[in-house]
Amino acid sequence: MFSDDLKRLIDQGLLRTISDRERTAQEKFISPLAHVNINRTECINFASNDYLGLSASPILTKAAEEALKSFPFGAGASRLLSGGTMLHALLEETAARFKCSESALVFNSGYQANVSCIAALARDGDVIFSDELNHASIVDGCRLSKAKKRIYRHCDADHLAALIKEEKSGNKFVVTDTVFSMDGDIAPVNNLYTLCKSLSNTILYLDDAHGTGVLGGGRGALAHFGLRPEPWIVQMGTFSKALGSFGAFVAGSREVINWLINTARGLIYSTALPPGVIAASLAAITTIAKDSSFNVKLWQNHKKAVEGISEAGFKIICKETPILAVTVGDIAETLAFSDKLWQRHIYAPAIRPPTVKTPRLRITVSAAHSDEDIYALIQAVNDCR
Ligand code: PLP
Repeated sequence: MFSDDLKRLIDQGLLRTISDRERTAQEKFISPLAHVNINRTECINFASNDYLGLSASPILTKAAEEALKSFPFGAGASRLLSGGTMLHALLEETAARFKCSESALVFNSGYQANVSCIAALARDGDVIFSDELNHASIVDGCRLSKAKKRIYRHCDADHLAALIKEEKSGNKFVVTDTVFSMDGDIAPVNNLYTLCKSLSNTILYLDDAHGTGVLGGGRGALAHFGLRPEPWIVQMGTFSKALGSFGAFVAGSREVINWLINTARGLIYSTALPPGVIAASLAAITTIAKDSSFNVKLWQNHKKAVEGISEAGFKIICKETPILAVTVGDIAETLAFSDKLWQRHIYAPAIRPPTVKTPRLRITVSAAHSDEDIYALIQAVNDCR
């Protein structure tokens, strides 16, 4: 049934395959996520979203171990039944405080948060305005919502304002990634904020998956732009990326969170996250709230990588975040470049359509990388020119 379509993907160089990690010879490495062992090749990993290197931190593993002494491994039920623990509630309080928000709600993943919350908040008769490059989970949330959808040009607040003017009725929802996961650029959150503030019945929904722990000293996109949360702003953040754990949260007004508790299907109809995972997320967010060293190291590594790749003559789509999308040619050339890097023990995968319109290498920098790792990347990029 699918063989012809799979063959077409192979012919176009677009077949996706999974490369799972093997165990690393850990004694040789600082962080098991900064170095990976795939297909029996040990590589420096520039393909993770573990921006602060927390996923391998004993801070998280110890917290999870401690939780398992008091709670069972599995949650056993959804939050609305018996799946939550005091750790879930504490994590929500901590996430709300971290985002300076009134309230927060934990979701099982960022994908589930976006799909559930957008569909629950934007209802029949409402209008969603979505950036054309928003993450697939936002796109799917919009598809599930009964609201009308309008797509605005990427990061174009003027186009957004023009579309908003055309819509005379219904609540309005402006939805955007704060950091775009494949281009690494930052949404003009300041302009979106000003626009939404000037309107009535308008919610600004920020997917801060790649901003949390990274931008604004770690607090995220609002802090990056010097903005404070408002009752009409909803912030989604993930524990799965810079926080090194798993799951997500939505922070907003108490009213919004109460509405989500009553209507977000991904919360209501799915088993809660296990207490060990919640404890690790709690340890991560507590750590970065008081210790900026991970964030500082991330940006030091980012600066070195940007300088090195630029000096080698390559174009980075956006240099403002740890997601460095480097264009090296068409699909075949990008795959070949990634392969050459691989042979030099650098893992930086090619990202191709349909995930993106134009192929690129996606190089992500982490605080877990040592100076030697970053120099090895720059050396390899120079060798492959
Ligand atoms: N939003 C954005 C912008 C993302 O890049 C991702 C993950 O890739 C998600 C949401 C989904 O988050 P999670 O991996 O926790 O499901």
